[in-house]
Amino acid sequence: MNQSEENQKLILNYVKKNCARTGLQTHHMPEVTEAVVGGLTNHLNVLKRPLCPCQFYSDKEEAVKERTWLCPCDDMKQYKYCHCLLFVNSEGNPITEYLPKDHDGLTTYGLVTDPAPEKGRKGQRIPAEANTAENVSVREAEVSPAA
Ligand code: SF4
Repeated sequence: MNQSEENQKLILNYVKKNCARTGLQTHHMPEVTEAVVGGLTNHLNVLKRPLCPCQFYSDKEEAVKERTWLCPCDDMKQYKYCHCLLFVNSEGNPITEYLPKDHDGLTTYGLVTDPAPEKGRKGQRIPAEANTAENVSVREAEVSPAA
């Protein structure tokens, strides 16, 4: 297995874990997931970090240092909102119910409620009985590049 294949495997494992952690799922159109996984893998190959593939960056190295758009990005950690539609509900929509009122996600998708409100937001109190391996901390869920 070459480095890129190793990295793709890391991303796919991460996606599976983050779905379990958040109670969300990947998009019902496989090409959506493939495109985002491909973009994350490319960034992992080149930048050694899983920079979000759905944003424009004037300087990707700076964006890596800032960390805002390392997957899971700040919007995912705080609001369970995925711009790329990698983590969505069963209809293929991103969760918008926790977004600030002026966030463009609300304008685009309207109110989309969280199918698993007990799971996976930063700072959220997770009941002790739900404190399983699935509910790993956000940082643990973040992808680490292969050596
Ligand atoms: S969770 Fe954030 S960083 Fe990851 S794919 Fe979605 S929008 Fe991009």
